[in-house]
Amino acid sequence: MRSVETFRDVQSEATEWRRYLHQNPELDYQLHNTATFVAEKLASFGINHIETGVAETGIVALIQGEGGDGPAIGLRADMDALPIVEASNKPWSSQIPGKMHACGHDGHTAMLLGAAKHLASTRNFKGSVALIFQPAEEVELPSGGLRMVQEGIMDRFGISQVFGMHNMPGMEIGKFGICDGPIMGSQDDFDLIVKGRGGHAASPHRAIDPVVIAAQIIIGLQTLVSRKTDPIESLVISVTKLNAAQAYNIIPDHVEIAGTVRTLSPDLQDFAEREILAAAQGIGRGFGADVEFKYRRSVPVTFNHTEGTNLAITAARNLVGPASVDDNIRVSMEAEDFAYMLETRPGAYIMIGNGPTAGVHHPAYDFNDEALPYGIGYWVKLVETVLAA
Ligand SMILES: [Zn+2]
Ligand SMILES: [Zn+2]
Repeated sequence: MRSVETFRDVQSEATEWRRYLHQNPELDYQLHNTATFVAEKLASFGINHIETGVAETGIVALIQGEGGDGPAIGLRADMDALPIVEASNKPWSSQIPGKMHACGHDGHTAMLLGAAKHLASTRNFKGSVALIFQPAEEVELPSGGLRMVQEGIMDRFGISQVFGMHNMPGMEIGKFGICDGPIMGSQDDFDLIVKGRGGHAASPHRAIDPVVIAAQIIIGLQTLVSRKTDPIESLVISVTKLNAAQAYNIIPDHVEIAGTVRTLSPDLQDFAEREILAAAQGIGRGFGADVEFKYRRSVPVTFNHTEGTNLAITAARNLVGPASVDDNIRVSMEAEDFAYMLETRPGAYIMIGNGPTAGVHHPAYDFNDEALPYGIGYWVKLVETVLAA
């Protein structure tokens, strides 16, 4: 059993890569410099099967093991940054105003590169490893994970299981967290238009005031959670946008409401879609207003499969010991587009400690380079566990 010390030799190099990526953040599918950097590094490790331009700027690279025939497994890192003005005050802060690696995808990319370098030199596994470098994790649909799946990477590279990893601020460096079943929530978005009749604000009896009706609908939606959902189950309905008249003395003729639904089960997504419409229409009609409704499923539940979860736990324990792996971590209702990969292939998504940094998507956030050897070590252990020669 090799400890994390084995992976210290790539740490300083991986730190350089991580800081270079941090200084040069790119958004969504526009990862041209990032993708070039990744592809050049992969080639320099002696990897010759590198496919670029997957989902525009994504990359899939294949490393063949020397332990004989076997399946391929996919390891995925996301590469995109966020439209945030950085305030970390680090010497390697973003050099591109208004763009920032605030979710640590620079670290995820560097960790998978570090693992690639190690695996390409040892090749102590059977079958092969597909390194999946994904664009556009942070964007609205269609996101990079979905597009890579739609472009057929699972079939083309013969991937039988797929694994992902994300850093977690607040969890100690050297610790891992995972759970069987749902680990991240689904994300659906909805729009409601409440159509009343506009008029003078001093004569409400001549209008059908959509503002008051919208207010009742918003309260009504919370009642769907508190009164119609099993309290043991998780459903979040958050109204996040509200758009009405622009003046003090006008009752508008319509009000726009929009929001998001998060849950851990497809059944509750169906429930929310059905019941938000029923509640909004019922309340609206009761007061003479019509309601238009749109419901859009953005990201499915990130669902860890039992076998993949157990393999991930074994790999992490081999690296850091049983006490440093929480195998029943709390589920997060944030959504993650790795969910699309786990919909098409079994596998698991694990959280890695980022230490006491600011939270992800915060202007002061920075990926913690101390996590690099742990992430690299996890990927290597996982490959040598799943594809044991
Ligand atoms: Zn993020
Ligand atoms: Zn992220």
